[in-house]
Amino acid sequence: MGSKALESFLDANLTELKAKGLYNKIDVLESGNSAIIEIEGREFINLSSNNYLGLATNRRMMDAAKEAIEKYGVGAGAVRTINGTMKIHMELEDLLAEFKSTEAAIAFQSGFNCNAGAISAIMDRNDAILSDSLNHASIIDGCRLARSKIIVYEHSNMDDLYKKAKEAKESGEYNKIMVITDGVFSMDGDIAKLPEIVDIADEFDLITYVDDSHGEGVLGDGVGIVKHFGLGGRVDLEMGTLSKALGVVGGYIAGTRDLIDWLKVRARPFLFSTSLTPDVCAAIIEAINILKESTELVDRLWENANYLKDGLKELGYNIGNSETPITPCIIGDEKMAHKFSEELYKEGIYIKSIVFPTVPLGTARVRNMPTAEHTKKMLDEALKAYEIVGKRLNLI
Ligand SMILES: *Cc1c(COP(=O)(O)O)cnc(C)c1O
Repeated sequence: MGSKALESFLDANLTELKAKGLYNKIDVLESGNSAIIEIEGREFINLSSNNYLGLATNRRMMDAAKEAIEKYGVGAGAVRTINGTMKIHMELEDLLAEFKSTEAAIAFQSGFNCNAGAISAIMDRNDAILSDSLNHASIIDGCRLARSKIIVYEHSNMDDLYKKAKEAKESGEYNKIMVITDGVFSMDGDIAKLPEIVDIADEFDLITYVDDSHGEGVLGDGVGIVKHFGLGGRVDLEMGTLSKALGVVGGYIAGTRDLIDWLKVRARPFLFSTSLTPDVCAAIIEAINILKESTELVDRLWENANYLKDGLKELGYNIGNSETPITPCIIGDEKMAHKFSEELYKEGIYIKSIVFPTVPLGTARVRNMPTAEHTKKMLDEALKAYEIVGKRLNLI
């Protein structure tokens, strides 16, 4: 016998979500995550992962992980500050800093808790944070934890950012002001106007924070958005995830030695949650080595992305303002987007619909995530399915 209040809350809300077509059923993969996946005993062409470079099942990384397990075991045993810091954590952080060309780096257990921990370690209730209206949920939660004044500016609107930064600065109400943005916006695939953002930051002494989760492994020969725009040294906090292009799990901040020293004593997920396991560290180290050795995977990713984008545009789909491999097909209506995804599933294409609250109401979509692992044949098959289903549902 559980709580009646909980039962009626869940019943009412689940019923409403399902009626509105906003309830998401979670599929179970019976294979590793790669360009072809297996669900319910059937194979699908996967266009839904964040596994941009196919590293989630990379042999070298799998071998490195196994070796680390043999050497260190399966768990770190404690939070980093107590006695969960192993030599392999330090190797990972040194390599991340080198890769990002910063003085230092700190690794977290996920990108989400990196944002939750780092923003609130720097900003407090006497500060203000200028935040892009389409920033990721983990940034929004991180800002809330900081208890700073949150000033949302219109998505990538630099006039609005300038005006709000000027107002905040001239009000004299805040000790510190931060501007925070996704580097690549995850639902539309557009790139933040980082050169203009850092100029505005210079003028008003803003702390700059960029979330490069969809930029690393993709932009700037795989190093990320700061290299893409040649802005080395002009972004205070470069945040990234180790779970998308890098194929494993975790998050990090790269920046000055002082910044990283501070986060190591103040970022709460670092202090109060057990550290990354040794196999994870080893696999990420190998991923960065692969990226440092050659741009082959990054080049193939872009080639595949451009091929798929051209094909979808030719078929007449609205792919929005994408400038990166993230390629939405914007359908609009939530139920139609679900239907579209279901019909593509029947044709052997795995592409999930994305609806409110992940994207605004009325802009439901399916989001294509081509990777370096897809072959031309797979992409052609996917485009064929898009043609068949689009015509069947009168979308093209
Ligand atoms: C995915 C994502 C995160 C969270 O990263 P995880 O490592 O999956 O927790 C944070 N920010 C952005 C912009 C993301 O796309």
